[in-house]
Amino acid sequence: MPGMNSEHAREHLVMRMPDNGGNDTNNFVQWRHAPAREWKFCPLCSHALCSRVWDGKDRRYCEHCGFVYWERALPAAAVLVYEPARQDVLLVTRRYPPAAGGLTFPGGGIELGESVAAAAVREVREETGVHVAIDRQFGTWSTPTNETIISFFLGHPVGGQLSAGTDALEARYFPLATAPSLVFDLHDMVLRLFRTEMLMAFHSWDHS
Ligand SMILES: [Zn+2]
Repeated sequence: MPGMNSEHAREHLVMRMPDNGGNDTNNFVQWRHAPAREWKFCPLCSHALCSRVWDGKDRRYCEHCGFVYWERALPAAAVLVYEPARQDVLLVTRRYPPAAGGLTFPGGGIELGESVAAAAVREVREETGVHVAIDRQFGTWSTPTNETIISFFLGHPVGGQLSAGTDALEARYFPLATAPSLVFDLHDMVLRLFRTEMLMAFHSWDHS
């Protein structure tokens, strides 16, 4: 198959690396969004998949049971946790690739059966220990590769105990005005947008 070689596969291979002596049950879990061409067998009946055009696009298809792999972007949620008294934002240092060690907003994938807002609240609690109340949706964007869709919410802390957990190496507050750049372009764009929004809100209030 064109483009399907081991070099290409390696390039996309991103795994959680063992970092605590093998006690992490997620050590060998793939994070990546596996491209459709890498799906080899039907998940329902285990026959080999073939390619067939549906709606003008090549899809992986099972001739035995009729299963079609409809490739979708992955839905995710993230939260700008803003502490208004100190004008701080809550950021996490990523524990796992891609971009391990980089700073982002807390967030992650939406589970089936979970609302987008519930996922946002849960991810903040899992990664930072902070219980958050959602104030409003900030915006929804695709990541630069269009593989993931992230809904960003604005929220404020209402309880919990700040401590890094699950996918986070560290969780801490940074002053909004001086927070460092975030490792993913979309997260960083959202941070800069929020900073500008708060600055403009402050100035319009100041001069009214
Ligand atoms: Zn099948």
